Amino acid sequence: MSTHPKIYGVIGNPISHSRSPLIHQTFAQQTGIPLTYSAILAPLDSFAATVDRFRAEGGLGLNVTVPFKHEAFAYCIDRSERALQAGAVNTLIFSQDPQAPARGDNTDGVGLMRDLAYHGIELTGKRILLLGAGGAARGVLGPLTAAHPANILVANRNGETAKQLILDFGAGPKPQDIVTLCACALADFPRDEVAFDLIINATSASLSGECPSLPDTVLQGHTIAYDMAYGTAPTVFMDWASARGARALDGLGMLVEQAAESFYLWQGVYPQTELVRARLRAELHSS
Ligand code: NDP
Repeated sequence: MSTHPKIYGVIGNPISHSRSPLIHQTFAQQTGIPLTYSAILAPLDSFAATVDRFRAEGGLGLNVTVPFKHEAFAYCIDRSERALQAGAVNTLIFSQDPQAPARGDNTDGVGLMRDLAYHGIELTGKRILLLGAGGAARGVLGPLTAAHPANILVANRNGETAKQLILDFGAGPKPQDIVTLCACALADFPRDEVAFDLIINATSASLSGECPSLPDTVLQGHTIAYDMAYGTAPTVFMDWASARGARALDGLGMLVEQAAESFYLWQGVYPQTELVRARLRAELHSS
């Protein structure tokens, strides 16, 4: 058996902020699997060429982040059911032969579901508001629906994209036979909508310090407001929800859990996530 460390990385643009190297290096130490994991900046116009070079140098797997998840989907011929449902790939799996087709998977959905479970959040029969209709929203809609909430409303800045997401989703297997799926534009958000049990912010608004505009009636004291974004301080969306009595959570746990699923796809070993959660949280608080 080779003792050379196996080569992995995360590819994106920008990428220097990524915490994936710290997460995967911690998983590697924990499981005793020798590997390298680096952050790779791909020029916006040469995702495929950068991936090809990485594979030619012996790379065995990549996590993919903004803005390349759709290009990663197109790069693969072999795609998991989860990737097909999401229409986006965040994990690339390569064989030793750089000419062999790459396999693409999407671990965002399972990452969110494991984090919700970690926080003790039950979804069966609940009312969910999903904000955003980009790659992350696509990745989580299937697993959310499979958890049998009563209904899911997808609200997006561009209402047509939200409607298309629902239509695309309706073409697949149909757990939604018992889940009502609706879509609207944020600007047309129904003013008489009663409070939701769970609001998931899957927009990238938090990255620019913005908060999707919603009527205050969408949340009450029992509402959980989950932002997929995370940072050194609560996001504007989290502050907005907390100020109205809701429980606000960030996406740090989702990040760790989606990384654990990628690690499992590559190594066949599921790492423990508790230690990494604590380590990242401490790092964020100290920065
Ligand atoms: P995309 O670029 O694919 O989609 C962005 C979405 O955000 C679109 O629906 C877009 O609406 C909406 N949007 C952007 N700016 C605003 C705004 N100012 N107000 C309202 N809506 C806005 O991004 P992703 O789906 O890949 O990522 C979304 C977020 O989720 C990011 O913050 C990302 O960091 C986070 N994420 C976190 C993960 C984790 O593990 N914690 C994993 C994956 C993503 P429109 O269609 O109208 O342009």
